Amino acid sequence: MTPPPRPLRVLISGAGVAGPALALHLSRLPPPLQCNITIVERRPRSRNNIGQQIDLRGQGVAAMRKLGIERAVRARLVDEPGVRMLDRRGKLQAYLASNKSGRGAQTFSAEWEIMRGDLCDVLYEACEALGEESVRFVFGTTVEGLERQPGDGKGAVRVRLSDGSEGEYDLVVGCDGIGSRVRRAMFGGGSKDGLAPVGMACALFTIPPEEGDGPAANWCHFPGRRYIMTRRDREDCLRVELGYAGDDPELKRALKHGTVAEQKEAWANIFRRDMLDAWGVRRITDGLSSPQADDFYTQEFAQVKIDRWSEGRFVLLGDAAFCPAPLTGQGTSMALIGAYVLAGEIARACGKGAQGEVVNPWDNLPVALAAYETTLRPFVKTIHDIPVRRIARFILPESAWVISFFHWAFWLFTVLRLDRLATLFMSDDTGSWKLPDYPELPAPKE
Ligand SMILES: Cc1cc2nc3c(=O)[nH]c(=O)nc-3n(C[C@H](O)[C@H](O)[C@H](O)COP(=O)(O)OP(=O)(O)OC[C@H]3O[C@@H](n4cnc5c(N)ncnc54)[C@H](O)[C@@H]3O)c2cc1C
Repeated sequence: MTPPPRPLRVLISGAGVAGPALALHLSRLPPPLQCNITIVERRPRSRNNIGQQIDLRGQGVAAMRKLGIERAVRARLVDEPGVRMLDRRGKLQAYLASNKSGRGAQTFSAEWEIMRGDLCDVLYEACEALGEESVRFVFGTTVEGLERQPGDGKGAVRVRLSDGSEGEYDLVVGCDGIGSRVRRAMFGGGSKDGLAPVGMACALFTIPPEEGDGPAANWCHFPGRRYIMTRRDREDCLRVELGYAGDDPELKRALKHGTVAEQKEAWANIFRRDMLDAWGVRRITDGLSSPQADDFYTQEFAQVKIDRWSEGRFVLLGDAAFCPAPLTGQGTSMALIGAYVLAGEIARACGKGAQGEVVNPWDNLPVALAAYETTLRPFVKTIHDIPVRRIARFILPESAWVISFFHWAFWLFTVLRLDRLATLFMSDDTGSWKLPDYPELPAPKE
């Protein structure tokens, strides 16, 4: 009798959304396939739950259900009734109601809105329940060195972590987000890194609440391609998003090389310099220095477009492989869908190996990685084809009169009950692509 294959040693870099989702699927591979999974996360556990509202859309909801976490996710959904569009004096100009009917197109506030931190926690807790022997987390640590061992693409990868430990892994998965270090190691950096900037940046942080802060989001535009958005998922704080699409040199410098304090200062100056008396500006820029704003996170929006997602024993997933830019509202859905497809293709190809003459079913990994790409590419292309640069310019008008026109257009469309205008830039449409079915991947029990 052939002995069962050795468990696959998997290293996942990044415990955001994609990493733990993949770990959950891989931990359920049917016997004799078994994985020993280590997830390395740069942030400490206590700081890995930052970020604001993320949406699950279209097939992303189906992919979330495949993880067996629907009840836990549902319990933490944010109930945002809609978005109030304000002029710079704070006067309501249009109201985009959310569509929670479960039918028809979603608007800006999706049916499945959840705080990024809550989704990360749900995934983390589900992995933790499996026990350390299945999924082991190493927080506050990064991958420092990746060395391919000889073996014609089949050799293991020697990994050195920032805590000084070393280990050998059969599969290294880059789930380390838009600036992925694993991607850089795969491509050797430079122009092949695949980052395509979208031409706007955002800052996210929390400030103390005030009386009058309601449950609806507020969205206020300012000339010079700037906006402030506030959202309220809970009573004890107000979430702020600042958006900007311009060439401010102070902000550019701070985003590239600045400390958090310099980044906060640069963002405050973008609004304070000529809009101090406009709606929200004083409160929100002052709020940047409140203790609650220690969750401050800023990023330049970009897409990741690369022509292959795996090489030898390296594979990329989520934003690291195909970040669509947050403007599409699809990044989290894509990460969940990608995790399901990658695990499904591993179950299919390596499961076949386990039943056949192949001595080691894991030798079929290259087949699985190629199939992951062939299956998922058409879906990713549909999302990458969304014209994000144009959308960025559309939602961040340059002049006051275009902002007035923007408000009027939204008002007209909502009055005529054509809220679908909002879906133009927050689409659920994934064309004809459907989430594949993998009977080889056992369904989770909730
Ligand atoms: C802090 C943060 C806040 C966010 N906030 C929002 C938001 O408010 N709204 C929204 O729509 N999207 C937000 N996003 C993006 C959103 O989470 C992703 O687009 C989407 O969920 C895809 O998930 P992902 O797991 O591929 O990437 P991410 O969620 O970006 O996760 C990547 C993970 O890898 C970790 N990491 C990065 N580099 C390394 C490294 N070298 N070694 C180890 N770990 C590493 C990061 O800390 C992060 O936890 C945020 C991302 C981050 C990192």
